[in-house]
Amino acid sequence: MKNRMKTSEKETPPLVRIRDLKTWFPVKRGLFSRTKDYVRAVDGITLAIYPGETVGLVGESGCGKTTLGRTLLGLESAHSGEMFFDGIALHAIRAKAMTPLRQRIQVIFQDPLSSLNSRMTIMDIVTEGLVRFKKISTSKADHARRLLDEVGLPPDAMHRFPHEFSGGQRQRINIARAISLRPEFIVCDEAVSALDVSVQAQVLNLLMTLQERHQLSYLFISHDLSVVSNIADRIAVMYLGRIVESGTTADIIGNPLHPYTKALISAVPVPGNNTGNNTGRRMRLQGEIPSASAPPAGCRFHPRCPEATAVCREKPPERTVTEGREIWCHLYGASDG
Ligand code: SF4
Repeated sequence: MKNRMKTSEKETPPLVRIRDLKTWFPVKRGLFSRTKDYVRAVDGITLAIYPGETVGLVGESGCGKTTLGRTLLGLESAHSGEMFFDGIALHAIRAKAMTPLRQRIQVIFQDPLSSLNSRMTIMDIVTEGLVRFKKISTSKADHARRLLDEVGLPPDAMHRFPHEFSGGQRQRINIARAISLRPEFIVCDEAVSALDVSVQAQVLNLLMTLQERHQLSYLFISHDLSVVSNIADRIAVMYLGRIVESGTTADIIGNPLHPYTKALISAVPVPGNNTGNNTGRRMRLQGEIPSASAPPAGCRFHPRCPEATAVCREKPPERTVTEGREIWCHLYGASDG
């Protein structure tokens, strides 16, 4: 687990600020394809990411975490809410005005192979952005050599093609491309999920080294709380379009409070957890995550929650600040923050 003081201690304004963001997809039915309903993939997320910080966004598949990342990147349209990057209102920006911001905001996707054009050499891949934004100051080969060195690949890799590399090496190439324009913020969407465990650790270490070197901020999206715990300074746990608990990695992993966070930690061994959730009685999550087009009333987690009471079925929990984290659960009382 990372153990360092971050700029998130409110000394500087956040680099990324999201307020009550909703990304809904229309469900059209009938002869005239009228919108009958919405899939509420992201349904009221508020989040801040500070310079040099990694925020881990975790939750099961289908919870909306990837949609949140895609909305931030401008790949999905927000239904409502606000998103700011370095004070720039992303939610109000036109597509053309987004182009210069593409240098400052980058993404690393899950599948290292499909994100690389198989017909391009590695040199062309890692310098593609530099060419597009007219940032080639010496030669493409010089830039490629420097970028490959940054991610731990030999210079002769630039003359080869993506299929000649292993999964871990391909993800290093993706990372080299992502950092080529010296971005400030990178969305890592399941960036190590397709890799073997030993390779995962190497790529996580590389991401942390580059973060230190270039003062990068990451939104690290993953279904795997154990992976997130290794890289994140803060963790936000997401369930069915909403955050249910967020706080420092040490607090969330060492002492999870929300029943959903406890269940996630109980499902996989997470280093740093000392509550017995890893080793003792396992909390099995019953059933599947419900559809985001018809979320349960009250607390959205109530059909699967072992601690649900009558109030959970009727009333959505409000935000409470307790024990150093934000939490949305009736077990922790009314909002004080
Ligand atoms: Fe469980 Fe109720 Fe808390 Fe929801 S509000 S997590 S149902 S105890």
